Amino acid sequence: ITGYDVLLDRRANKGTAFTIEERQIHRIHGLLPPTVATSELQVERFMENLRNMPEDLSRYIALSSLQDRNEKLFYRVAMQHTQEIMPLVYTPTVGLACQKYGLIYSKPKGLFISINDKNHIFDMLANWPLHDVRAIVVTDGERILGLGDLGCNGMGIPVGKLSLYTALAGVSPDYCLPITLDVGTNNKTLLNDKYYLGLRQNRVTGKEYDDFIDEFMQAVIKRFGQQCLVQFEDFANHNAFRLLKKYRHLYCTFNDDIQGTASVAVAGILSSRRITGKKLSDNKFVFYGAGEASIGMSDLLVLAMEHEGISTEEARKKIFLVDSKGLVVKNRPSGGLNDEKSRYAHEHAPINKLADIIQTIKPSFLIGAAGQGPAFTREILENMAAVNERPVIFALSNPTSKAECTASEAYEATQGRCVFASGSPFPDYVYNGKKYIPGQGNNSYIFPGVGLAIVSCGIRHVPDEIFYIAAKTLSEQVKEEDLASGLVYPPLEKIRFVSRKIAAAVAEYSYEQKLAAFYPKPNNLEKFIEENQYTAEYEDSLPPRWSWGEKK
Ligand code: NAP
Ligand code: MN
Repeated sequence: ITGYDVLLDRRANKGTAFTIEERQIHRIHGLLPPTVATSELQVERFMENLRNMPEDLSRYIALSSLQDRNEKLFYRVAMQHTQEIMPLVYTPTVGLACQKYGLIYSKPKGLFISINDKNHIFDMLANWPLHDVRAIVVTDGERILGLGDLGCNGMGIPVGKLSLYTALAGVSPDYCLPITLDVGTNNKTLLNDKYYLGLRQNRVTGKEYDDFIDEFMQAVIKRFGQQCLVQFEDFANHNAFRLLKKYRHLYCTFNDDIQGTASVAVAGILSSRRITGKKLSDNKFVFYGAGEASIGMSDLLVLAMEHEGISTEEARKKIFLVDSKGLVVKNRPSGGLNDEKSRYAHEHAPINKLADIIQTIKPSFLIGAAGQGPAFTREILENMAAVNERPVIFALSNPTSKAECTASEAYEATQGRCVFASGSPFPDYVYNGKKYIPGQGNNSYIFPGVGLAIVSCGIRHVPDEIFYIAAKTLSEQVKEEDLASGLVYPPLEKIRFVSRKIAAAVAEYSYEQKLAAFYPKPNNLEKFIEENQYTAEYEDSLPPRWSWGEKK
């Protein structure tokens, strides 16, 4: 491509950073103002504009259009200003963006495949312009963050997640494909919204839905090859567990809401062990919410306790789940126990209210993932502080409005003694002159590194042990000084480094277990992975040139 088209191609475009020679040769000289900018200046200019904007949704739109216009610059901005950019391309702002997707949608960033395309999913995948796709994030939009059914407007989620694959782990954006499966929506507001982007029908369910997902999985490997990763994202509970069970041994796949959340939570739990000085199995854990996130966390926590040498049965006894009907116990009159919850159902009298549950169980860990908003009241937090020197409080529900409590509520009610982490970011908090930094217990510490290992080494399956290894590696990156300020995760600025460590550890395990397909096995996995990481440096856009056959 030459001429104006160069400026329209997000991958080729460097904007004002094109050198004069490049401008002349590409025939774009004069289409750009005379001053040649450095990439550093471009980042500064963009950030200045971004900071001057009135609100986060405008910032989301500005970032999204930068990604369409100059992809390298977008990633440079995201990599250099991770802490500031992450909440804009991901939770919480991405939630707002999905709610308004019908208004702000502009250029294609992924594929929309609807139930009307049944029997032609392969043809739809063939429309994607890139061929070497190695990582797909797919949603059907039924449980977007804690916001519920957003149908086709859920596209913001796979787009945002894959941006993080690149920004946080350096997976090349060319390997990544965001997909939304539109099987309808049951959200009446959206069905009546004239700007809604998707099919105006209720969700297809049952066999028709299952056949559609089956066709999708088969079409993916036919189009992109058998080790293409499919990450399931924000599917509703009733499909998420079923589909994971069905596909986990057949395809290279994982469900981030179940397994990624589990891994990041277990990492936080492993780190808090260093603060409380207790073994995992010396604790009692109460999970508020008994859905994808909580069950995933519980299952991986059991695996982690097994590594400490206790049995599955003993480990499960340490875990107490709370769902919309109260404490999960055997023979509960209100019922509602699926297979997942049954694993953790105790022989115990039913208790309905969370406050009473905390009074009775006296847990050392209280972990919220119910997506219901404020639930950890002052009374509950004070009770946690009354029975624990260092109570651990995780408020993991996203976006911010759904968090179980805020960081300041948790620190205040516990006189700064709690170990706190949340799913969406909270500002630092000063209590009695001491600064506390709330950790972000967010999957984005885990899935990009795991994804990087998968695409770099051709990992064919993703067993739970991989998420345990990722958790352990993440936790090992937490320094003593981080722990001292209450942080159970490494600072976000180090996330690219951390993702590489996770990727290397996951790759090492995968080669040992013969799960990695790319041979020969690299001698130094960390170095190999580093060399595979995408960088946002501009490359010379001109072909190599040399003098040829001329006498000096
Ligand atoms: P889910 O599968 O729909 O589960 C929600 C659970 O909450 C269900 O067990 C539900 O009970 C329970 N619940 C609902 N209302 C309740 C109430 N009033 N009291 C007690 N429990 C109640 O959803 P999920 O995938 O687990 O996600 C839940 C939340 O976690 C969302 O906000 C999501 O954004 C967040 N999350 C955060 C991260 C992170 O990285 N921090 C990762 C994943 C998810 P029933 O079983 O009785 O219906
Ligand atoms: Mn999710």
